[in-house]
Amino acid sequence: MRFWNHFARFKSGKIEQPSVYLIKQSMERMIPDHVVAELLPRAAEWAQGQEQFLLRNAASLILRPKLKEIALRAGIARTVSGRILGVPAIPLPEEADLRKTAIAYGLITPGTIGLTLGHGIFIRQDCLADAKLIAHELKHVAQYERLGSIPAFLQQYLSEVSQHGYPSAPMELEAIAFAESEFPN
Ligand SMILES: [Zn+2]
Repeated sequence: MRFWNHFARFKSGKIEQPSVYLIKQSMERMIPDHVVAELLPRAAEWAQGQEQFLLRNAASLILRPKLKEIALRAGIARTVSGRILGVPAIPLPEEADLRKTAIAYGLITPGTIGLTLGHGIFIRQDCLADAKLIAHELKHVAQYERLGSIPAFLQQYLSEVSQHGYPSAPMELEAIAFAESEFPN
């Protein structure tokens, strides 16, 4: 998952407008263990549904040879399963309390620009050219493979976020470090 953390420019009609999203507060909020336990089964079910949607509808990432190379370096074994889709906004669960929790703890917010669910990656469409962001999400795909399933990934990921906060969770740090190694500032 990735959030805006810099000034961004995007097109609104014919006028290019600078814009910034201030989302720091929600990103650093810890999630209590009981919330993780309660959230997990329904979050996993939602994530699996979204992955199925991506596997059916999104473009294969191996169609872009540069992305395939990054995917291999990220450690993804089944690059052939990888899918990537640009969307106007990262989808949120329809179920009201799941959606509310995702927003409250900053898991998915209006500032989210990338979200990986199994072998499927959503990228907000104004960020599709951001290869560093995609590299970050590809490392998450490799983590899903390593942990073996969407529920296993979410259990580990949410428990890390509940202990360390979003940007400091070890799985996040691994994705950040990989993207940085591919595209140093
Ligand atoms: Zn991430």
